Amino acid sequence: MKQVAVIGCGAAGMMAAISASLSGAAVTIFEKNEKPGKKIYITGKGRCNVTNACDISEYFDKIPHGSKFLYSALYGYDNTQVMNLFEENGCRLKTERGDRVFPVSDHSSDIISTLVRILKKLKVDIRYQDEVRWIQVTDYGHVKAVVSEDSGITEFDAVIICTGGLSYPSTGSTGDGLKFARELGHKVTKTTPSLVPFEVAQNWCKELQGLALKNVTIKLEQIPASGPAKKKKYVYDGFGEMLFTHFGVSGPLILTSSCYYEEADKKGEKYSYVIHLDLKPALTEEQLDKRIQREFENAKNRQFKNSLNALFPSKMIPVMVELSGIDPEKQVNAITKKERLEFVSLIKNLKMDVTGLRGFPEAIITRGGVATSDINPSTMESKKIKGLYFAGEVIDVDAQTGGFNLQIAWSTGHLAGESAAND
Ligand SMILES: Cc1cc2nc3c(=O)[nH]c(=O)nc-3n(C[C@H](O)[C@H](O)[C@H](O)COP(=O)(O)OP(=O)(O)OC[C@H]3O[C@@H](n4cnc5c(N)ncnc54)[C@H](O)[C@@H]3O)c2cc1C
Repeated sequence: MKQVAVIGCGAAGMMAAISASLSGAAVTIFEKNEKPGKKIYITGKGRCNVTNACDISEYFDKIPHGSKFLYSALYGYDNTQVMNLFEENGCRLKTERGDRVFPVSDHSSDIISTLVRILKKLKVDIRYQDEVRWIQVTDYGHVKAVVSEDSGITEFDAVIICTGGLSYPSTGSTGDGLKFARELGHKVTKTTPSLVPFEVAQNWCKELQGLALKNVTIKLEQIPASGPAKKKKYVYDGFGEMLFTHFGVSGPLILTSSCYYEEADKKGEKYSYVIHLDLKPALTEEQLDKRIQREFENAKNRQFKNSLNALFPSKMIPVMVELSGIDPEKQVNAITKKERLEFVSLIKNLKMDVTGLRGFPEAIITRGGVATSDINPSTMESKKIKGLYFAGEVIDVDAQTGGFNLQIAWSTGHLAGESAAND
């Protein structure tokens, strides 16, 4: 019987262990924490957005980095198969807005306990608080043994690295797998936080901390530090919800846009970024101007600062008044057409200069990881070391929010587990 080691008892590790075991291997999981799935527990605000139910062909647009590499894995074990696995093992699921799938109970712990139940049934040996230190390899470049804190040296025919990335390190994802991969001669691409809030220069954002805006659009403009201005481009354009914070901006729209943030181009030329916020995306400038004229007509004897209640949340009014440059005490009927049209433009295009990303402790995922060029996409096996496999966030792939990142962990975990047991 083939002996397979899985390093990490997160989403990818548990799925890899299940697949390897179902394919006939004897499986041991090494987990440095005292329990399984610490990160799964905090996913989807504790509800676990376990996958996305859209057609699998639509996944590739949601994966800004590594979509081609994931083709075999995603088609080989897709979202329907993942949903069936949970349902067949007693964890009922429901699909919400945007095809996001959650357990009916709204408890991520039910996803973890279902997986643990399957692992127990399959008699997978899970060694908690047993941190892997390194992986031994033969002179011929084949995996030989796992060296861990508690168990010492244990020999295996295959090893699957499922140690996650660097985000939320408190869950155990501290980049150990990236270190193992590097030590064993793999290329590891630059790692940066992704699905992460932005810090911005404007102080008025901080004044709005705690305010959530629904039904707005943002565009993220990328500007090269040098070169012709025409090289500026919009790298993201989306509609939804955002939030102001004490350092800048966050919320679903902002997190998704951060997937498209690159610090520099391939030659190292730095980019800067501007967020363009449209507070009234349902209205054209002309329609908005007419709407404002109506508001001003209804409040013609009021001061400007007291005329905007129907247009913005109250917390936002002083900020919009200040940014408009119009005297707050001015009677509404004394506001000029030029002032009004400039105000319309401001509402349609409120600009914020991005000064940086928040760090790994606040990032939903890690961008970068073990280079896909060093991994066989049909098996998840390393092209450098025989018998060594990778699955989940440790690989240089990442997706938008919506259940896509967990599906990547399930699909790559399944493929790696099956291949490790069969090859
Ligand atoms: C706050 C938050 C919310 C999220 N919500 C969602 C969501 O709703 N839907 C979604 O699709 N994605 C979500 N994600 C992303 C998703 O959780 C990850 O992409 C996914 O969990 C990655 O799984 P993984 O198994 O590759 O890695 P991880 O879940 O990070 O698991 C790695 C495991 O390996 C262990 N380990 C590491 N090093 C060693 C070692 N040396 N020895 C032994 N064990 C080791 C760790 O302790 C850990 O248990 C969220 C992420 C965060 C941070």
